[in-house]
Amino acid sequence: MKLNLDIQPLSSWITPVNQPLLIAGPCSAETEDQLVATAHLLKATGKVTALRAGIWKPRTRPGEFEGIGSIGLEWLKRAKAETGLPTAVEVATAKHVEEALAAGVDILWVGARSTANPFTVQEIADALKGVDIPVMVKNPVNPDISLWIGALERINNAGVKKLAAIHRGFSSYEKSAFRNEPMWDIAIHMKTLAPHLPIICDPSHISGNRDLIPYISQKALDLDMQGLMIESHIDPSVAWTDAKQQVTPAALATLVSNLTLRKPETSNAQVNDKLSELRSNIDKIDDLLIQKIAERMTIAEQIGTYKKDNNITILQVNRWDEILTKTVNYGKALKLNPDFTEKLLELIHTESIRRQTEVMNAGQAAAQQAEKLTHV
Ligand code: PEP
Ligand code: MN
Repeated sequence: MKLNLDIQPLSSWITPVNQPLLIAGPCSAETEDQLVATAHLLKATGKVTALRAGIWKPRTRPGEFEGIGSIGLEWLKRAKAETGLPTAVEVATAKHVEEALAAGVDILWVGARSTANPFTVQEIADALKGVDIPVMVKNPVNPDISLWIGALERINNAGVKKLAAIHRGFSSYEKSAFRNEPMWDIAIHMKTLAPHLPIICDPSHISGNRDLIPYISQKALDLDMQGLMIESHIDPSVAWTDAKQQVTPAALATLVSNLTLRKPETSNAQVNDKLSELRSNIDKIDDLLIQKIAERMTIAEQIGTYKKDNNITILQVNRWDEILTKTVNYGKALKLNPDFTEKLLELIHTESIRRQTEVMNAGQAAAQQAEKLTHV
């Protein structure tokens, strides 16, 4: 399936002053001095294309700093007038959209909490009807690609063609080194569904901690994302929000200079020949893998028939534990990551059980259909 988004290329609405495309600025506009001084330092790095700043902040708990509000738009105007940097702010209501447009903001973005709520997204989309302004849509806080797609579609249906997605990671109950799990596979899935949709990575909100930002930024570029949005504050230690993940403009400049820019393709024939050879080996192995998995499923069905004839349950926990331990250990000996082997086996096992259920309970096609692994 491909998404039917009617969009203009990124190059039609933003011209990077440097590679990679970098949007930077404080998590929140706090004071006029903080914003304007940060903007000047960012401009001086020569690496920043647009200035971001949160004016209205969606805070998880009440009583925290909820953004400086409309007055911040005046400060952004001044920062832009003095530095020439186009400005970007988060909008979460129709009123935010109206005020940001009236203040001459250049780029709007929809925050992760808003993307998770179709009412909010629709309200923003309605306020954008007939307006030609670039909009970037962050992924929803929860790992649901449909909500992300839905938000992009709603904004696009309102006539916004200068559209981009922002990958900022997904919240998870599990303890992790990241504030928001990157779940790169979701961003890659989005890229395959909408190859023309630019995806910008927000390493700050994925990392939650400035030390992890270089790693996430490099990985985003290696996955061919089109740019980065990084939070930068003149003095992160006193930032009113997201202090741990903000970097000074000088640190940002160093961080970006240390990134390696790789191209999706090369015209070097020798490199391409070697790559084709390696890829054709991978393709052969993929064919074999699929063939072997299909054979395994056929055997699983035979076992299903045998169990049915002998009135034995599909699942025998001991047997499953035995397969898991044995195979994970074998994988370890072959340098496979145990988590990977376990996940792969679980996927195969779930499908095996589904196939055995089909054999055992023929005639319950509708329920079986509902159980099939579904994808957007
Ligand atoms: C932000 O960019 O400051 C922000 C609030 O991000 P998110 O919506 O990704 O949490
Ligand atoms: Mn922030």
